[in-house]
Amino acid sequence: MPLKNKHRLKWGRLCRFLTQTKISTKITCLYAAILFVILIFTSAIMGVGVYASFYHQAETEIDISMEHIQKRLSDGEHLAGILNSENFVLPGVILMVTDITGQEIYKNDVHYPSLDVIESHRVENPPFWANKSMEVSELDRFSLYHATMNIMDNGQIYQLHFFRTITAEQGFLEHLQRVLFIITIIGFLIALLAGYFLSSRILRPIRILTQTARKIEVERMDRRIEVPPVHDELSELATTFNHMLDLLEAGFQQQQRFVSDASHELRTPVTVILGYSDLLSRWGSSDKKILEEGINSIRTEAEDMQQLIEKLLFLARADQKRQAVHKEYLELSELVEDVVRKMKFAVGRHSLMLGENDAGCIFADPVTMRQMLRIFLENAVKYTPEGGHITVVSKRNDAKKAMQVEIADDGIGISPEDQDKIFDRFYRADPSRTKDVGSVGGTGLGLSIARWIADQHDITIDLVSSLGEGSTFILTIPLAEKNEKSDDSIKMRPGIFSLHS
Ligand code: ADP
Repeated sequence: MPLKNKHRLKWGRLCRFLTQTKISTKITCLYAAILFVILIFTSAIMGVGVYASFYHQAETEIDISMEHIQKRLSDGEHLAGILNSENFVLPGVILMVTDITGQEIYKNDVHYPSLDVIESHRVENPPFWANKSMEVSELDRFSLYHATMNIMDNGQIYQLHFFRTITAEQGFLEHLQRVLFIITIIGFLIALLAGYFLSSRILRPIRILTQTARKIEVERMDRRIEVPPVHDELSELATTFNHMLDLLEAGFQQQQRFVSDASHELRTPVTVILGYSDLLSRWGSSDKKILEEGINSIRTEAEDMQQLIEKLLFLARADQKRQAVHKEYLELSELVEDVVRKMKFAVGRHSLMLGENDAGCIFADPVTMRQMLRIFLENAVKYTPEGGHITVVSKRNDAKKAMQVEIADDGIGISPEDQDKIFDRFYRADPSRTKDVGSVGGTGLGLSIARWIADQHDITIDLVSSLGEGSTFILTIPLAEKNEKSDDSIKMRPGIFSLHS
């Protein structure tokens, strides 16, 4: 295999190892590798340091010996006298004297190798920590430092050679190197074990998180991860994960409720239609009254169903942020007047009054704004007995920079415990009470749609109501700034519709 391909294969394997191994293994390897490098580095520094200090020691001893002899010579002593005395060099330092021809004439250790042997073993490139003015020779079993000094005695020139062996130190250093090597290996193994232990401990919550995530199924969304007591990144991750599960569970439950409520709402009209179609198939051709009643009922149920489907589609579009809201500058008084006028045709025996209707410019989508006003008005009609009064007023509140539209009725009212819930999807207050007003009851979706439209326009909805006395819905609609620059057809603002919003 060509060398290039071999390298590529190696890199490929390494990349696969890095991408596929567990984080704990990666951390262990990294931890061990770092410690290994540190140990090697410190051992090397230590070895070099000890070596350098031994060489320095030898160098100092030679220097002291040289200076000592130099001083005695300058004090007038002769070389022969010095060599006959004791301790003219430090213990361990060898002195060799040669004459001008290089002939060895004195050596304080007769067993010491000759000058020629030492010279022949001179090291060309001594270690960088060795003194440059001295020579280093490596013999079979030892190395030595060598310094020379020329002197004049009795008119003769002599060369003094000072030697200092560093054999003992070298033995020690070799031993030290072996010890350091073993320590490095042991340290590496300990680092591997410690790294493995530590990383597994640190990553334990992540493993639990993974296991919990695996166990979570659509049917069992109530499982949560235990949040570690210490506040660190992992506890933050667990909290965030649990929070995400809370949201998912709430969303999922909401969706399930929505689907079951919608199916439930659709089941009744479908059952009625099926019942009437059975009746028609049996008696329709012979009994004209049954035929007429059947067709009318089927039509009414189909219309109800259509309305329900329209509302469901609206909310589905809203949830998917696909419901278009094209805002433009509108005169609210005109919009209110128009909606109330058209509503008057549908109120039957109720009295619908438009009171104060102040002028005010708002920036809103006319279609959904009408839809919202109609929902409140239709409810007022639905939940007010015949002959009841419904009043609409629209007041300008300059202090709040808003228009305040109040839709009041003197109908059945809403109990305090229901007031929080009527904006929930499919929520209907006690249906037995609605019978009092002869209302067929709605779908429970109208106010959810109204709340969504209000949210899209920053409109706040307040409710004042008490059972048996009627209800007043107060809409606070922001006034549009005169110099406000806006696109006439702004698409729907992103906003999440919440059941409890
Ligand atoms: P529905 O289609 O049932 O009217 P809504 O979402 O419009 O659905 O209203 C939810 C519930 O709020 C109604 O079922 C009713 O109990 C109550 N409600 C709404 N408006 C009024 C009102 N003006 N007076 C009394 N109850 C009301």
